[in-house]
Parts: sequence; structure tokens; C-alpha cells
Amino acid sequence: MKNTTIALIAHDGKKEDLVDFVLRHQAWFSGFNLVGTGTTGGRIANKGIAIECLASGPLGGDAQIAARITEGEVHAVIFFRDPMGKHPHEPDINMLLRQCDVHNIPLATNPATAQLLAGNKAFERG
Ligand code: PGA
Repeated sequence: MKNTTIALIAHDGKKEDLVDFVLRHQAWFSGFNLVGTGTTGGRIANKGIAIECLASGPLGGDAQIAARITEGEVHAVIFFRDPMGKHPHEPDINMLLRQCDVHNIPLATNPATAQLLAGNKAFERG
């Protein structure tokens, strides 16, 4: 039973980058439970990777992940944000980022930081 969960989220302009990232680090990700916002999770599931898909971001998926952080059920977040886009659910996104800081949850918002997390032995809690 895996007891560490990573949340995966990407804005539309970054979804392909996130799917590529997960595929490249598939062995590392296989040690964790994965949960994602609806569309992002669906794209990852289509590659044959097990992931729990929540609501789509604009419909509350980011808020669901934020709540799971609050409840201690999500232990890291990889969220490839599109800094050029405008998002109707910006308040939910800000809440998610804030919950990461409140609970000291590793948060990677771009591939360079995600790369530091992936393969980091210190993070592997099982
Ligand atoms: P999505 O949500 O994976 O359902 O597109 C991501 C987001 O925009 O927050």
C-alpha cells in the first residue's frame, strides 16, 4: 500500500509538458498514489498510468486538492501553471498554493522544480 500521494495539475498550455514529464519519470511516479484535476488526470490516465481524477479545475478540482492537503492526504503538488493565461478559477488556484505553504507541502510549478523533486530520495515516504 502506497502511503504518499502526489497531486498533478496543468493548465491547458502546459498539459502536454506535464504528460511528457510523467512519462519520463514513470518509474519514480509509480511509487506514489497519483491524483489529478479532471482534464489533466484524464490525459495522464490515457497513457495507461493509474491516477484518481477529480473535478476539472474550473469546476472545483483545485479546491478539492486544496482540501485534501488540509486533511493531510496530499503530500506534494506538481502544478505546471501557464503564466500567460487568465483563469476563471484563480481564487481556487490561490487557495491551493496557500494550502501548500500552510502545510509545508512541496509545490513545483514548473518543470525545473519538478525535476528537483522527481528522484529525490529524501521525499520518498513510501
Ligand atoms: P484541468 O484543471 O486539469 O481539469 O484542466 C486544471 C486547472 O486548470 O486548474
